Amino acid sequence: MSQPLLGCIADDFTGGTDLASMLVRGGMRTLQVIGVPTGPIEADVDAVVIALKSRTLPVDEAVQESLAALAWLKAAGCRQYFFKYCSTFDSTAQGNIGPVADALLDALEAPFALACPAFPENQRTLFNGHLFVGDTLLSESGMRHHPLTPMTDANLVRVLQQQTSRKVGLVRHAAVSQGANAIRTAFAELQAQGHGYAIIDAISNADLITIGEAASDQVLITGGSGVALGLPDNFKRSGLLPEASSASTLPSVEGLAAVLSGSCSIATNGQVAAWRESGRASFAIDPLELADGHDLVTRALDWAQPLLPRGPVLVYASAQPEAVKAVQARLGVQAAGEIVERALSQIAVGLLELGVRTFVVAGGETSGAVVKALDVEALRIGASITPGVPWTVGHGRVTVALALKSGNFGGRDFFTEALELAP
Ligand code: ADP
Repeated sequence: MSQPLLGCIADDFTGGTDLASMLVRGGMRTLQVIGVPTGPIEADVDAVVIALKSRTLPVDEAVQESLAALAWLKAAGCRQYFFKYCSTFDSTAQGNIGPVADALLDALEAPFALACPAFPENQRTLFNGHLFVGDTLLSESGMRHHPLTPMTDANLVRVLQQQTSRKVGLVRHAAVSQGANAIRTAFAELQAQGHGYAIIDAISNADLITIGEAASDQVLITGGSGVALGLPDNFKRSGLLPEASSASTLPSVEGLAAVLSGSCSIATNGQVAAWRESGRASFAIDPLELADGHDLVTRALDWAQPLLPRGPVLVYASAQPEAVKAVQARLGVQAAGEIVERALSQIAVGLLELGVRTFVVAGGETSGAVVKALDVEALRIGASITPGVPWTVGHGRVTVALALKSGNFGGRDFFTEALELAP
């Protein structure tokens, strides 16, 4: 592969896609890799995002995985590195943001990094070091009740300081609003005072772009996808990235198309209903029938085979909340999820064998299961279908076009709209 400019490590899969979409928007051809690759990857790209599942792992494992990802990105020849976490700074009391950032700084022999989860476009702003979700402080938002990473303090200087032995400082909005040079000066002052990190205020996209500009010389940048907004321009200014680019252009994928839906969110249920109401072909998977040993996988594939040449089909387990509750009451929440994910994954593999190469998948967990079953190792990221959901081309055993949608994304006609835009 040609040497990528930017190497990114994301602490979860959808966060990785989010960052990758941002870089594509800025004109960088971007590949998202699922887990640390075992060897080199053949792809001509400007940025690589390695998506880990390190947000909620035990600290040691999160650090080890992140270091392995960094080692791969270094070997690929990246010039700058980005550690991506959630815009609500999702982390446990022990970490993992601080310990992972510390390990990356050590491995890069870098003394200092900025930390900026802000993403004003998505209502995440940072002012005087305090993170807001819309009009409320992070600690008063729904995040205080998160099952895995409850955030009960909005002061990110304090939060990050609890996770690291390096000193954490703050670059206030007053400096940010004066431009990139003022930010660089603030970074230098903080470093001279012995700080290893700077939380940095941002209340608008313009702030993020200025921060990105000021970070052109930083080896490691840490933050949400928002702070990546200004990075492509740095590479353009230094002549490493062309001004005009076709970063979102994906190679075309020939073949049949199908939609698989395992999400039971309100949005997805609406999308399934819209598809059925329009008279398109659909096949429902009943988890209780699966649990009773019926071979719905074979049945769905036998049903799909003659229909596929005439147009895309939908196979779905999506159901209304009462139906889901009834299934979960009988099978258990975990087992119900697994039995459906397994069936949809097997159906995806069967569809691939029938010549399907374009898949729209609804559901975060469902997408993960399908991507794994299709042996997809890396995704080239294309243009967004709806904010947060790009078309991608997956490389692995077979090349496939994939639109992976977590639950609540997209309008009622998302499935049809997505298929119309398929590469
Ligand atoms: P979302 O992105 O909407 O959260 P996910 O795919 O992440 O969607 O999660 C939905 C979960 O619900 C999956 O584990 C899926 O297997 C499971 N599921 C899908 N349909 C049903 C159903 N009818 N009954 C019970 N569980 C279901």
